[in-house]
Amino acid sequence: PPSSPAPAAATPMMAQYLDIKAAHSDALLFYRMGDFYELFFADAEIASRALGITLTKRGRHLNEDIAMCGVPVHAADDYLQKLIAKGFRVAVCEQLEDPAEAKKRGSKSVVRRDVTRLVTPGTITEERLLDPSETSYFLSIGRTKGTAATPEMALAWIDISTGQFRLSETAPDRLLSDILRIAPREITVSESVFHDPALRPVFDTLGLAVTPLPPSLFDSASAQDRLTRFYGVNTLDGFGRFNRAELSAASGALAYVERTQISERPVLQRPQRDDAAGTLFIDAATRANLEIERTLSGSREGSLLKAVDRTVTGGGARLLAERLRSPLTDYCTINERLDSVSFFLIADDALPGQMRECLKRCPDMLRALSRLSLNRGGPRDLAAIRDGLQIANAVRELLHREELPKELLEAHEFLSSAPGVVMRDLDAALADEVPFLKRDGGFVRAGYHEELDELRALRDESRKVIAALQSSYAEETGVRSLKIKYNNVLGYFIEVTALNADALTATDEAKGRFIHRQTLASAMRFTTTELADLESRIANAADRALSIEMEIFDGLQARVIEAAESLRGAANAIAVIDVSMGLARLAESEGYCRPKVDDSRNFAVTAGRHPVVEQALRKQAANPFVANDCDLSPEGNSEQGAIWLLTGPNMGGKSTFLRQNALIAILAQMGAFVPAGSAHLGVVDRLFSRVGASDDLARGRSTFMVEMVETAAILNQAGDRSLVILDEIGRGTSTFDGLSIAWATVEHLHGENRCRTLFATHFHELTALSETLSSLHNVTMRVKEWEGDVIFLHEVGRGAADRSYGVQVAKLAGLPESVVLRARAVLDQLEAQGRDTKASKLIDDLPLFSAVARHDAPQPKSNALEQAVENLAPDDLSPREALEALYRLKDIH
Ligand code: ADP
Repeated sequence: PPSSPAPAAATPMMAQYLDIKAAHSDALLFYRMGDFYELFFADAEIASRALGITLTKRGRHLNEDIAMCGVPVHAADDYLQKLIAKGFRVAVCEQLEDPAEAKKRGSKSVVRRDVTRLVTPGTITEERLLDPSETSYFLSIGRTKGTAATPEMALAWIDISTGQFRLSETAPDRLLSDILRIAPREITVSESVFHDPALRPVFDTLGLAVTPLPPSLFDSASAQDRLTRFYGVNTLDGFGRFNRAELSAASGALAYVERTQISERPVLQRPQRDDAAGTLFIDAATRANLEIERTLSGSREGSLLKAVDRTVTGGGARLLAERLRSPLTDYCTINERLDSVSFFLIADDALPGQMRECLKRCPDMLRALSRLSLNRGGPRDLAAIRDGLQIANAVRELLHREELPKELLEAHEFLSSAPGVVMRDLDAALADEVPFLKRDGGFVRAGYHEELDELRALRDESRKVIAALQSSYAEETGVRSLKIKYNNVLGYFIEVTALNADALTATDEAKGRFIHRQTLASAMRFTTTELADLESRIANAADRALSIEMEIFDGLQARVIEAAESLRGAANAIAVIDVSMGLARLAESEGYCRPKVDDSRNFAVTAGRHPVVEQALRKQAANPFVANDCDLSPEGNSEQGAIWLLTGPNMGGKSTFLRQNALIAILAQMGAFVPAGSAHLGVVDRLFSRVGASDDLARGRSTFMVEMVETAAILNQAGDRSLVILDEIGRGTSTFDGLSIAWATVEHLHGENRCRTLFATHFHELTALSETLSSLHNVTMRVKEWEGDVIFLHEVGRGAADRSYGVQVAKLAGLPESVVLRARAVLDQLEAQGRDTKASKLIDDLPLFSAVARHDAPQPKSNALEQAVENLAPDDLSPREALEALYRLKDIH
């Protein structure tokens, strides 16, 4: 943006622009000029690059050309979407009056303009900018001093597009995981929180747009006022009790709504407390590694969500994602959700099919409601509410059963209190098919409004009148090709070809009647008083008709907004039904079972599968997934969870097994059936995992450091209700360091954390721990050897792996044959020595490893040569291959 504008040198319009821009320096300014939004100066340069549109110039400012680019208003949504996706904020500045009004004030005066909304990643409402299946939250963080030394913290998050508003307490050490559970698009915090170095890493890790606002907006004392003002109530008593941190967060969130929506107010649900203690704690690393919502590479394809989503409505898809993000810890509520899924599985054959057909047609009522409340809605949004309510009605009738489980019973009640009056009003007033924009008119049903019908009749009538006029003029003048036409500049006019013009201008009588309007090269245009009269009648009628339609629109919109709460109840009920039905369908088509969930410490899964890998294998028509049992339940009367120490070759299926059990816990606790033959799960309160090695180089941490930080977090936080999944601890350092760390970690988990644990390792030495740790069990991924190759059975069995088959796996991976042969020889030697030596002896021999790894090491050479000769199959070789083999042997020699 220009540094210090000098209004004196600026045109009045430029002066206005600079004023407005100065108030919105952190956003790109879309400055409305007629049918375009124009951007100037640096904004123009940024936008033209980001959008790939032409940069031009418009006038000069302070002796320099003003850079400019523009986007047509009707296509603005697409451009907004691109800019938002690239992380920009856009201030939309509209003309607040008709240019004619401005002219009346004087020839120099500028059309009044101001910013009417700020478009940011977390505050959009346009259908085209939103993904129907994704929530669009922005989140605000509140913090107060608290009573003790520790600050109190809370989160408030709002989805303007649906009106959802939630609050929850948090704490500095769980801030990151809580934010990830909510998955906002954007964050707003007070400046003091923003600049707190202790919280910096959280914001950096999230990589989201974070907007600092003045601390006064987060003041818990004035928060009450802001809330009561927003909801137009006298007191917050009816809202439930909120602590000061929660009020601070809520106040910041509402302030952000006011900042971005300027003069419009969305209808927001009253803030609901979302009890963090009631949800399964999943730390940031675990959430990413388990690929719950997206894979590590960021795609939705391949995530757990994608694999289990069978919903058919936007609201259902959003609810499913939210449930998956925050599984519960209260087994009663979990079982209530499971009851809903069971209901649809045992319901009579016709119900699910009919229900599905019904739901499929259900529009997104919440998002339509939000647009209407922000005055950004159109006839389609009203129609969405009408159609949605009709479907709500049909769904309610379908669901009208004797024995409904609790959750569905509640849904049924919400559907019953859906505003039937509003539906009937909309139905009576709206045409079946309505246009997108209200200014196009034509959305009011014929027969609804008498005057409107008359005006429309006049319009239709006029067409006939004009046709009649045309033929009478043609007859009168003898010009058979005479036409009455219409354009925006002239309105209605009579047109004849230049050759025929004489007939309308030759006589005085004709001249008095046909008034000349325009001469073109090949045609002449005229009007008559009759035609002009008719035209003004038609124009007035159209204007009047449109203003009647607008009034009707406003009335309907107001009625819809009044009914917001019951509409929301119905929309949520439909989402709940959609989710339960979707999970039932999933269970049916994928063969999932209902988990038994209680407050025991059990974790007993038979025939468990990995939901994503199972489907992927099927798609590839590969060998079917091999189901495996897992039992980490405490033995006898103990509360100590079991540890399964899992060994086996790479590619044997260890990670898959670990992850599948974590995913089964997540699915069960979100209230879904699970991919298993049977499952008995005592509720898990915290889920930890250390899987896969990912470098965090951006933050200057090596693979090993990341691994240790994550392991430390687990050992410090896991309790006897936790589930811990550890994969290949100690891989990132030297063998004996790694072994020692893994060893001590297992002991700590067993003795201190006492949690249910799956521990995969390539250190076979660890299996000896089963002799001293009573709850530790050795299991291994079974393999079969066949003609020197390894075949993975993907079966988990009791016992320890005797070998790691690394060389065989390397061969499968396509390592050059000479390297495979060499490796095998080295391994033989190491094993020969290792068998009668202790581990300590191996350390002494390690230098040998580097020595033999070199090409010129004498001893294993003959071995390798022998092996290579042995591996030759002369009958299978072509002459050329034989020659190559000979060269290779020579090489080894
Ligand atoms: P590891 O962690 O032991 O190296 P992975 O868990 O990565 O092995 O599994 C390697 C591959 O084996 C996976 O890509 C998957 O396709 C296949 N796999 C794993 N478990 C199974 C199973 N139970 N049934 C069928 N295929 C499996």
